[in-house]
Amino acid sequence: SETVQLLTSGQIITSVSYLVKELVENALDAGAEHVEVVIEKFGQSKVQIVDNGNGIPKCEISQVCKRHHTSKLTHFEDLAQVNSYGFRGEALHSICSIANVEISSRTSNEELGERHIFDHDGNLSSSHPISIVVGTRIIVTDLFTNMPVRKQIFSSPNKCKEEIKQITLILQAYKIAHPITRFTFKHNGQSLLQLPKADDIGSAITLLHGKSVLDCLNHTYVNRDNFSLTGYIPCLGKQTVSRSNSDLSILIINKRPGIVPSLNTFIRKFLIEHLDLPSRMHPIFFLHLDVLPDKIDINVSANKGTFLLHDQVSIIESLKEEW
Ligand code: ADP
Ligand code: MG
Repeated sequence: SETVQLLTSGQIITSVSYLVKELVENALDAGAEHVEVVIEKFGQSKVQIVDNGNGIPKCEISQVCKRHHTSKLTHFEDLAQVNSYGFRGEALHSICSIANVEISSRTSNEELGERHIFDHDGNLSSSHPISIVVGTRIIVTDLFTNMPVRKQIFSSPNKCKEEIKQITLILQAYKIAHPITRFTFKHNGQSLLQLPKADDIGSAITLLHGKSVLDCLNHTYVNRDNFSLTGYIPCLGKQTVSRSNSDLSILIINKRPGIVPSLNTFIRKFLIEHLDLPSRMHPIFFLHLDVLPDKIDINVSANKGTFLLHDQVSIIESLKEEW
């Protein structure tokens, strides 16, 4: 029923920042090397994401906002091999049910693009040809239009500020995951983030936090049969730390920013001991962990932010030897 649909969609798109995260992931799944996020009135009046990815073929467009429609997973067993961010086919459908959605897209095989409007059930209600470059532009307006309580929660000044901060953090994390991709973020016409193409994780860290932070970090690389870990951790004597309320560290697992609770705790404890720091401190690290897709369970939390790793004990043991 409509109510059930609204309830479940509300669980998926719980905030403006989460909406942005889903749309940024779709852009990255489409191979975008440029992702532009523009929001107005803290996202409540407008969220627009423009990417230069592959675009959505015209023959697929009527399906993309349907419930559980995904182009990324064809068989359930594929879940063990999934290497795209999306696989549930829920985001666009959920967004349609709580906001107005317009998608313009063009693939490289098409001369012209098309602009499409969807209704709250995710059905295509109109399409018009437009001239755009290859890629996709999604415009979400009137967010939480039919959820007065949530709309009100997200219009409180504190919540608004918090959401802007969250979006910034999300884009920074994806920048570490995809240094080559250019990310920009604008709010009410003001540029809040400009992250041009970077060649590697080190250059991405410099873009985010400045050369002085990178200079206090050492490159680390551990490669074993079952995993590889690469990135930056603090050097002895030149500690880069933040206090517990603002941990800048980013762990990327198979290109996904995320948390494996016991592994994050291990890394933090190891660095605290190694650097001889007070335990309230957070040594700053930026790490990419790559494991075989079937060793990681990303389907644990609804927002896909916390993971289970099947091999974490052996990963932690290897790091103890290597670090
Ligand atoms: P999922 O990402 O889990 O597949 P979504 O609801 O987020 O589900 O998206 C549905 C489908 O719409 C995707 O599988 C993809 O085919 C298409 N799509 C969404 N956003 C984009 C985009 N920015 N570029 C190209 N295709 C897209
Ligand atoms: Mg998606």
